[in-house]
Amino acid sequence: TTHLVWFRNDLRVTDNRALSAACEDVDATVIAVFIATPAQWRKHDMAPRQAAFIYQHLQALQGALSERGIPLYYHQCELFSDSVDWLVKFAAEHHVDALFYNDQVEINEVERDAAVDKALSPEVQIQRFNDSLLLPPGSVTTGEGSMYKVYTPFRRAFLQRLSESDCRSLPAPHARKNSHPGEAAELSPFDYPQQEVGDDFPIGEEAARDRLRRFCRENVQDYLEQRDLPAVDGTSTLSPYLAIGVLSPRQCLNRLRAENPEVLEKTDGGAFGWLNELVWREFYRHLLVAWPSLCKRQPFIEWTKGITWRDAPDDLQAWQAGKTGYPIVDAAMRQLNATGWMHNRLRMIVASFLVKDLLIDWRCGERYFMSKLVDGDLAANNGGWQWGASTGTDAAPYFRIFNPTTQGERFDKQGRFIKAWVPELSDVPERDIHQPHRWAEKQRRVLDYPFPIIDHARARKDTLAAFEAAKNRA
Ligand code: FAD
Repeated sequence: TTHLVWFRNDLRVTDNRALSAACEDVDATVIAVFIATPAQWRKHDMAPRQAAFIYQHLQALQGALSERGIPLYYHQCELFSDSVDWLVKFAAEHHVDALFYNDQVEINEVERDAAVDKALSPEVQIQRFNDSLLLPPGSVTTGEGSMYKVYTPFRRAFLQRLSESDCRSLPAPHARKNSHPGEAAELSPFDYPQQEVGDDFPIGEEAARDRLRRFCRENVQDYLEQRDLPAVDGTSTLSPYLAIGVLSPRQCLNRLRAENPEVLEKTDGGAFGWLNELVWREFYRHLLVAWPSLCKRQPFIEWTKGITWRDAPDDLQAWQAGKTGYPIVDAAMRQLNATGWMHNRLRMIVASFLVKDLLIDWRCGERYFMSKLVDGDLAANNGGWQWGASTGTDAAPYFRIFNPTTQGERFDKQGRFIKAWVPELSDVPERDIHQPHRWAEKQRRVLDYPFPIIDHARARKDTLAAFEAAKNRA
């Protein structure tokens, strides 16, 4: 019997449901495959840093599988549709009896998988698993059986179901009795730009688990106090690993529970605060499955389709480059450009700035983020953007507009984060860091730093008018 495991965004051997299921029959021969689809990735705006992160983890995965007698085959084609054709041929050549894979939630991925299932079954048995989520989409519903549109009742129902479900993590499978004699393909580099990730995110499942363990032991208690301060290492920085499945949400939950056994009872503590973020991750993914149009750049709130956005390429470029003249916005964008990661509070601030100060279509921001983020994830990114733009379900109300100066004062009071990323402001004293030109004027100095590209108070009025006009027209 030959079992084929198709790896996609679940690049790990520990607690991988499809892999474990494929290995259950000790007599089966298990082989694995990964298919790179650069043209599809281009359509999805995948960041070169994420491509490099995937590539390096693929190498690690190949090693870990090979130690277990499982060869990882590798193929590169263009689009998902090409990958379907290739996989069908591959399964025939290798006399595959059963195909194992973990579900994805995005619409192109779902359609690809449906095509594979149709082409292979019934000759090949298909075994699919919910692996990337604590609870499968569609399993947490209102009394009427539909998906929640509001987060808080979703969370309540979610936690209830969670307490009844089996979320144990599975160990990595043992080495096979009859390992496959075939040589696994050499991993030729992706035909896709790759950009090194650097030391911020070390490679490997073990590195991810170490980070998780340390965070749950040492930092989680202070999470609520520290999670909004970008100058402090107050969050887990596990998102890149979760996004490509080097780590599973079950591993996160179980480690959190091991270190904080009271997490589900003590709902005002840091551990619950962190669990809450894992539940937001689930919420956005469940939403994507209930409303696939979210995958197609559609807003959740219908009337927001009528907003007249500004066509302002220079402003967009200034935002992208971190040259808006608002220090907290610029520091954040420079962090993104330099590392591929941005702190959550800052993601909210820069999203609000693009949409509600510059009145630029949130989809420009969504795409730019995807093209840069090492943790790029359609559901979380879309959810975050639609939240900030007030176009999403349970989003910030449209009249709630962050003031970028006061956000900076609140969350980076001493300007430590700003100074780390905007060296042009290194001489500006703490109390003036959020409005550096005022200080420079008094000092009769000229800063090599842009003046604010827009006046916040005026922009706020214009944005309210644009949203209200669209709402009234609807
Ligand atoms: P922690 O605070 O340690 O949280 C733990 C985990 O929970 C994260 O790793 C992540 O998987 C999940 N999580 C945390 N916050 C959220 C959230 N608001 N929504 C969904 N999941 C969450 N997250 C991504 O993983 N990929 C994205 O592409 C992405 N784009 C975003 C865009 C915008 C505009 C906004 C406002 C948020 C976005 N987020 C995204 C959510 C969040 O900013 C990141 O998950 C978080 O900053 C990652 O850092 P961390 O691992 O230290 O998080």
